Amino acid sequence: MTTIQLQNLRKEFDDVVAVDGIDLTIEDGEFLVIVGPSGCGKSTTLRLLAGLEQATAGRIGMDDRDVTSTEPKNRNVAMVFQNYALYPHMTGRRNITFGMKSAGAFTDDEIDQRVEEAAKTLDIADLLDRKPEAMSGGERQRIALGRAIVRDPDAFLMDEPLSNLDAKLRIQMRAELTRLHAELETTTVYVTHDQTEAMTLGERVVVMNDGRLMQVDSPQVLYDFPENRFVAEFIGDPAMNMIDVTVEDGTAIHDGFEIPLPGAGTDAGTPGTDPIPERSGDRHDAVLGVRPEDFYLAQESPDLGDATFTATVDVTEPLGDSLLVHCSVGDAVFKIQAEPRTELQSGDEITVASDPERLHLFDPETGEARY
Ligand code: ATP
Repeated sequence: MTTIQLQNLRKEFDDVVAVDGIDLTIEDGEFLVIVGPSGCGKSTTLRLLAGLEQATAGRIGMDDRDVTSTEPKNRNVAMVFQNYALYPHMTGRRNITFGMKSAGAFTDDEIDQRVEEAAKTLDIADLLDRKPEAMSGGERQRIALGRAIVRDPDAFLMDEPLSNLDAKLRIQMRAELTRLHAELETTTVYVTHDQTEAMTLGERVVVMNDGRLMQVDSPQVLYDFPENRFVAEFIGDPAMNMIDVTVEDGTAIHDGFEIPLPGAGTDAGTPGTDPIPERSGDRHDAVLGVRPEDFYLAQESPDLGDATFTATVDVTEPLGDSLLVHCSVGDAVFKIQAEPRTELQSGDEITVASDPERLHLFDPETGEARY
């Protein structure tokens, strides 16, 4: 049973601030994913948790222990890395048991029993006598997971463990990691730059940028209610459209179109479900965010009413399960995810509707969501 607390955690490398004052509690048994672009500080955060880096400031707690300065070997966490970190000259079994044997804390019988159990859980019995060179990438990663499991750690710390696998195997291993977590219920912190991996694996997802936490929420809340423009654009593929608008009298206006915002003139409330607050008569700039699937060709969604505008099709991209339509109005360009097999050509004029409940507004200066 392990909760992990990060309090005002900071890490500097010379003049680079890799982790810039993070406060976060990871619940016991939780699968928490940290996602963000390259260089945002994800791996450094994980390495601080493992004790592979020393914090410049702040505190790391595991349950009621302060482990900020504790040696890695005394933290009882198990790391799984992208490059597997297996010893090439050792068999799968030796790779799994090496750490246990050198720690000297287990009898040979205990070690054998744990290897048997891990082999069953991970379906790796037939890999135990092979060396890494005779294994595929997915098999090597299973052995690396086996090595983590046998130690029965308080937490798993995983740094992009699937990034060396091909796309199909990655999807398969994602499902296996979810199953493994359901079975072991060990607190897990998982780092990735891949937002799909983050959304499918994480019970909660932390979005990081520039060493800071941008939002921590369940995948669906991140998707539906991004708290700022960074999260809105990072989560979701194809990315959310962002259009500079002027907001006046409850309407988002851009050269060539007007989109009514929900419930003008009322108080702020729950984002997405309650009206966007609008001070009557107050005219100001904003950034309108609309996911491509929340724009519709009017003929496909007659129930969205008359609040439509006309756009010109630039190009279309068939994605199989939908048609991505790149279009423009004046100098605004955006994408619409339409029904597959919709017949459209470059230069066609289309009538576009949007669902007022699914619009987002962001402050053009700070990027914060304004609901
Ligand atoms: P990636 O996805 O590319 O691995 P990341 O989000 O994991 O990126 P980190 O590896 O944590 O990012 O790096 C955060 C910042 O700290 C980067 O600017 C990086 O260059 C810097 N950094 C990381 N480790 C060191 C180090 N040992 N010495 C100096 N700077 C470092």
